[in-house]
Amino acid sequence: MPKTKSIKKNKKGYESCSGCGVCLLVCPQWRRTSSMSVTRKARARAMQAGVLPEEIASSIDACLVCGSCEPACPEEISITSMNIEQRIRLNRARSKYPSWYPVPLKKAFISDNSILRRSTIVLAGGSGLGQKTCEHIINLLGGSKKAGLAADDGRDIAALIEAGMVLDDERIKYFLNNLRYADTLVVAEGILHLPLREWLPGKKIKGFGEALMDIRAIRRSLGPEDMYIIESRGYHSDFERLVKYYDRLRHETGCQMNLDLQRIAIPTGASSLQARHNIETAGCLEHAKWIMKGRRVKRIVVEDFADIKVFQLITDIPVIHISGLI
Ligand code: SF4
Ligand code: SF4
Repeated sequence: MPKTKSIKKNKKGYESCSGCGVCLLVCPQWRRTSSMSVTRKARARAMQAGVLPEEIASSIDACLVCGSCEPACPEEISITSMNIEQRIRLNRARSKYPSWYPVPLKKAFISDNSILRRSTIVLAGGSGLGQKTCEHIINLLGGSKKAGLAADDGRDIAALIEAGMVLDDERIKYFLNNLRYADTLVVAEGILHLPLREWLPGKKIKGFGEALMDIRAIRRSLGPEDMYIIESRGYHSDFERLVKYYDRLRHETGCQMNLDLQRIAIPTGASSLQARHNIETAGCLEHAKWIMKGRRVKRIVVEDFADIKVFQLITDIPVIHISGLI
């Protein structure tokens, strides 16, 4: 394992955890297993007691990095950064990795390294969006003169961040260089939103939801009989701003959303590394069932393409990606 580095300095770390347990209430892994040992609280308290990351490896590996616990924490601990920091420390100490860990991709996977001179660049990531859907999204965002699809979408970087593995400086430089002419980046991988804001201050970083919902015709096609599924990682990474954005959207359209009473997004975990390996063992179907419990809707609209399959497996209600609204 090469040397590792942090992507963000913590505002507050595990030493600030009071043990209040609020983070449990929003944690999909707690809801699924009822096991205290898999929770953020348990990991923070264990670290306070001097436990080493390798002694709580199964708990660290269980986290889906959905980000739901961070806005819920009354101590304002940077929990997402802390989750990743713990994976970095665990990786330093272990020689065997879980089967869902990413195999580092070679630079050669980027077939086209031309720099896009567009004001909006779409990074489709490992979202599973096909070429036609991507072209449709580019048209929705103003056409090919204004918007372009990045050949290098940083999906390998997203996977390495999530796994707590090394980030190669040259690779990051190359990735960012290709984005330099854009003022807006539309990024499918929610886990990239926070680092991109730090690496490229001044650029607008949006998820597919915000970028497409800014289009009036798409907004108008959403209604009270829709269940709208917010992509949790991007949302929680910019929670204070986006909570207002989605409040307005909810009031304007009357749609239902996967938000709890604190307006924290309940995730399916479908974009996690664990789910990309196996959506059932990652618990995505149970998380999706929980989201749909007691809901009476005629359509499910998802921001994260990976959520389509999950909802299709648990319900007969039609499921579409947000780009399919028009
Ligand atoms: S990031 Fe998500 S899965 Fe991980 S501890 Fe927080 S709420 Fe639970
Ligand atoms: S919500 Fe924050 S302070 Fe409370 S137990 Fe969880 S991490 Fe600790």
